Amino acid sequence: MTRACLIGLALAAATPAPAADPARPNVVVIVADDLGYADVGFQGCKDIPTPHLDALAGGGVVCTGGYVSHPFCSPTRAGLMTGRYQHRFGHENNPAWLPDDKAVGLPLDQVTLADALKKAGYRTGAVGKWHLGAHPAFHPNRRGFDDYFGLLGGGHQYFDHNRFKTDPDRARQEYFIPLVRNEKPVEEAAYLTDALGREAAAFVEAHRKGPFFLYLAFNAPHTPLQAPEKYLARVKDLKDEKLRTYAAMVCGLDDAVGAVAAKLREHGLDRNTLIFFLSDNGGPVAVTNCRNTPLRGAKGQLYEGGVRVPFVVSWPDRLKPGRFDHPVSSLDIFPTALAAGGGEAPKGLDGVDLVPHLQGKAAGLADRTLFWRTGGGQSFAARKGPLKYVRVGKQPAELYDLAADAAEAADLAGKRPEAVAALGKELDAWNAALVEPRWQNPTPKKK
Ligand code: CA
Repeated sequence: MTRACLIGLALAAATPAPAADPARPNVVVIVADDLGYADVGFQGCKDIPTPHLDALAGGGVVCTGGYVSHPFCSPTRAGLMTGRYQHRFGHENNPAWLPDDKAVGLPLDQVTLADALKKAGYRTGAVGKWHLGAHPAFHPNRRGFDDYFGLLGGGHQYFDHNRFKTDPDRARQEYFIPLVRNEKPVEEAAYLTDALGREAAAFVEAHRKGPFFLYLAFNAPHTPLQAPEKYLARVKDLKDEKLRTYAAMVCGLDDAVGAVAAKLREHGLDRNTLIFFLSDNGGPVAVTNCRNTPLRGAKGQLYEGGVRVPFVVSWPDRLKPGRFDHPVSSLDIFPTALAAGGGEAPKGLDGVDLVPHLQGKAAGLADRTLFWRTGGGQSFAARKGPLKYVRVGKQPAELYDLAADAAEAADLAGKRPEAVAALGKELDAWNAALVEPRWQNPTPKKK
């Protein structure tokens, strides 16, 4: 036997067969919370500096028709995490903070993206806001994530994380509960967004050999409006105090994304990592003075300002930088990530693998119909091509041509009754396959 063969045998014996194809990309899903459509540089914002997000967008594909499947927090996350319209399994409202209730949270029979990628050999980590149920059965560690750090409820204080010890606020208890690392409460000194960026970068560092899946869900810039001086200083020219604080929180988010991007670059992982960035819903304009310009409406509504969000897909090894104008959905993240990761898709996914579309090798998104429903049927919307159908309560259906009227200012329903009828029929068929909401939105108790 030759020396080369011996060395080969020795290597073969010492090195177990790789569990995963080294060419498989890492997957990072970054979710902002209540970020306005017009409040990052790559969306045209001039008064909030977001250099790291802009760099991500500049190296990726900006999806100008990026939608979430719900106009508020938890249902969007349920859809993203399962790749299915969350109405199919009753997750249509925010879950109250009920640690003893095993019925209020992402139903346990639903397969999460973390479950699927873990099965495919990925190391899975979640950092940040969970908001998919308070009972221990819904904990990220039991929904496919090997590692978790963050806030389990729908929001949190950004400073003074240990205040729960002395000042439990029963009105919004989840905002004051301890942060956790996996299932252990932790005391944290840093501004929360900084802590999330630090933890996300540490996850990349620890699992740099890959492949890994990181779900980085900021609670910023959701209320409470709290920001440290170092970020406030960057937006000091904004006169409105609410907007200034909100903008400073966006700066913090941008820095945290920058920390993850720098870590990926440091280890040469930036080109073969598939990154999504989006907000979980449109900006709540009246609450934080954020901007959804030029879109109509805000968080909670099915006009564009509630469901159309900043949306970037970056994978430099596979996707040329640019923009993509056909509608894409947060429901597409699951099938896209799973196709990239080589995992087995569970049945019943609603989205599509975006990669061939973003590469210009597949068609079909131009006339795909996207659907929305809130309140178990209080409001409905659908988008197909440039047409958007909206029905609010008992009011007649409205119709907009988004190609000519992104602001949904001119209702065309009277002029195009055939289009209203056709979209209404599609909506009814979609709605017929849904279930009732399993729970109602919590109403905050008075102090
Ligand atoms: Ca939100």
